[in-house]
Amino acid sequence: MTILDGKKTSEALKQEIAEEVKQLKAAGKKVPHLAAVLVGDNGASITYVNSKVKACEQVGFASTLVKLPADITEEALLEEIDKLNANADIDGYIVQLPLPKHIDEQKILLAVDPKKDVDGFHPANFGRIALDMEAFIPATPFGIMELLKRYEVPTKGKHVVVVGRSHIVGRPISILLSQKGAQGNATVTLTHSHTPNLADFTRQADIIVMALGIPEFLKGDMVKEGVTVIDVGITRLQDDNAPKGYRIVGDVAFDEVKNKANYITPVPGGVGPMTIAMLLKNTLLACKWRERVVSKLLTINC
Ligand code: NDP
Repeated sequence: MTILDGKKTSEALKQEIAEEVKQLKAAGKKVPHLAAVLVGDNGASITYVNSKVKACEQVGFASTLVKLPADITEEALLEEIDKLNANADIDGYIVQLPLPKHIDEQKILLAVDPKKDVDGFHPANFGRIALDMEAFIPATPFGIMELLKRYEVPTKGKHVVVVGRSHIVGRPISILLSQKGAQGNATVTLTHSHTPNLADFTRQADIIVMALGIPEFLKGDMVKEGVTVIDVGITRLQDDNAPKGYRIVGDVAFDEVKNKANYITPVPGGVGPMTIAMLLKNTLLACKWRERVVSKLLTINC
C-alpha cells in the first residue's frame, strides 16, 4: 500500500514554483501577484486567507490582502472586484467564501474576470474544462490530478466512483478523470445523496474519490482489494485530548480501508495541502498566460 503524501508532494511543487519565480526575477520579468478578498471576520476564512498569503511569500509571489467590513454592500464589493479586474499588476485573485448572507455569492463570482479567476469558479472556466480547453481548474480537483500524476497511479480504463457532486470538487473531478489524456480515460460514475445502495457502486470501483463531508463514511467492507482511495473530506471533530481541542477527520475510515488499498490519501496530509499549492500553480499560470497575451499584442502592434 502506498500513501499518496500530499504534504510532501505540495512541498516539492512549491519548491518548483519558487524556482520558476527566481528565473522570472533573474530575467527581469514580473513575479506572479495573487490578491485575496476577505469580507468580514469569519475565523476559518481568516485562517484560510492567511495561509494562502503565507504560501505566496514562501514561493516569492507578491500578494495583496483586500480586507473589507462584514457590512459592505454588494455594490461596493462589486466595485472592489472591478478594481481588481482592472489592476494590471494583479495576475489572479480569489474571493474567500462564504460571503455574508446579504451578498449574492454567485453575482460576485460572475463579476470576476475569468482570466484572473485562479479559483476556477467562473462558469467560463468550468465550461472550458468541460470542453478540454486551457482553463483554471479549481484547486482541489487540480491537486488530486497532480497527486495521481506524480505517483503514476493508472487511471486509463479504470472505473472511478466519485461520491459528492459539488461544483468545486465532485463534479469537476468527474469531468477531469473522464477526459482524454494521461490522468484521464477513466469511466466515471458520479454519485450523490440520492444514489441508492452506494456500496454496490464503491465495491466495483478501482478508484474512489470521497467528497461528501461525512466523517469516516467509507468503511472497509465498501471497497474491493487493490482500490485507490482519494479522501477529500475535512471535518473538525471535538477531541478534548487533542492540543487544539479538535481533530481533523476525512470521509474514509482510514484504518479499515488502508488494508485493502493499493494507494490512499491520508487526512490530514493528503488532498488538503495540495489545494493551496495548486492555487499557487494557477497564479503562476495566470501570470504566464497574461505575458503570452501581452507579447502577442506587442507583436501585432509592431
Ligand atoms: P458539499 O457539501 O458542497 O457537497 C457534498 C456532496 O456530498 C453533495 O453532492 C451531496 O449530495 C453528497 N452527499 C451528502 N451525503 C451523501 C450520502 N449519504 N451519500 C452520497 N452522497 C452524499 O461538499 P464539498 O464538495 O464542498 O466538500 C466535501 C468535503 O470536502 C467537505 O468535508 C469539505 O470540507 C471538504 N473539502 C476539502 C477540501 C480540501 O482542500 N481538502 C476543499 C473543498 C472541500 P447532494 O448533491 O445530493 O446533496
